[in-house]
Amino acid sequence: MSTAPILPAERRWLPRRLLLTRSAAGWAHGREIARRAAETGVEIIELTSDRLSLDLPEDPRRAYAEAKATLAVVVAPPSKLKLQPIAPSADWRVDLAEGCPAHCSYCYLAGSLKGPPITRVYANLEEILGSLPAYLGQGTITSRSRMRAHEGTTFEASCYTDPLALEPLTGSLSAAIAWFGRWDADAQLRFTTKFADVEPLLSLEHGGRTRMRASINPPAFARFEGGTSPVAARLAALRRMALAGYPVGLTIAPIIAAIGWEAAYIALIEDAAAALADIPTLDLTVELITHRFNAGSKAMLESCYPGSALDMTDANRTTKRTKFGTEKQVYDAATMRALRSFFERGIGEALPTAQILYWT
Ligand code: SF4
Repeated sequence: MSTAPILPAERRWLPRRLLLTRSAAGWAHGREIARRAAETGVEIIELTSDRLSLDLPEDPRRAYAEAKATLAVVVAPPSKLKLQPIAPSADWRVDLAEGCPAHCSYCYLAGSLKGPPITRVYANLEEILGSLPAYLGQGTITSRSRMRAHEGTTFEASCYTDPLALEPLTGSLSAAIAWFGRWDADAQLRFTTKFADVEPLLSLEHGGRTRMRASINPPAFARFEGGTSPVAARLAALRRMALAGYPVGLTIAPIIAAIGWEAAYIALIEDAAAALADIPTLDLTVELITHRFNAGSKAMLESCYPGSALDMTDANRTTKRTKFGTEKQVYDAATMRALRSFFERGIGEALPTAQILYWT
């Protein structure tokens, strides 16, 4: 049996204030989120319309921090009920929320979401989940990959948020997991997280239809991940989920080729192997995502986190054009080759039953 510690739940995020829009108050789930927040002493501001109005300081950094400390309960617009494909992570993206309270100095959300970074959670969860059956069997990933076909049509809930970070107040992730558990279909909910408070998820009737992945990086890089749970706690949480019968995974992301990366990542892979040792029915996948940024996200992140030591210079970088015609900075071919062979070899040795789903 592994000696990996079961660490206590920690780093529960509480907003400074919660905005409840008029339409969201019309949904039981929205009212329940506001009730839970009020119970913990969070200031509740009931808006008379659906416009998110918040007086923010003029100083951009203080405005950013205030918006990050705000949770809004809103109704997801009809566009959210029309799902987008999200390869290679999953067939479809399903959003339970948009925005994240953590402060990772590499987060791609900084350059992708418009307006102040208020985290929005959706009150019309039933409607969102009710839209999913229409996508069953319409996989974009599973049809191409025999390795993933047994997972059926996959729905990714972590594209624009970290749903576990919000779970103590929202309960949305638990509701979605239970919904997939009841859904007698060849389908899978997926989420990845840098948080560790899995206690509410352990006793759910998940039916093996939700895969949790821990998003991890070496502790030496924790300084880039403000407000998240310690990596050891994330791994301990993943172990608890695996023991509760969930399929699990590791999202090693973003892989950062900073000085000393080999030693840091081999220790991380060994820590993951120790945390997941001796789990009889372990179903483990690995996703490998290298650090990248674009001009917009770089400018935003450098202004919000000016003290970050994260390297976003041109060193070891090359420009890659996306299929949408935009550009991003990724590691150059030689660095990519070195990283990829290192990870494939290290994971093969330490976690021989793990399936590497993709490298990007
Ligand atoms: Fe972004 Fe994930 Fe960090 Fe949240 S936890 S700030 S979504 S990278």
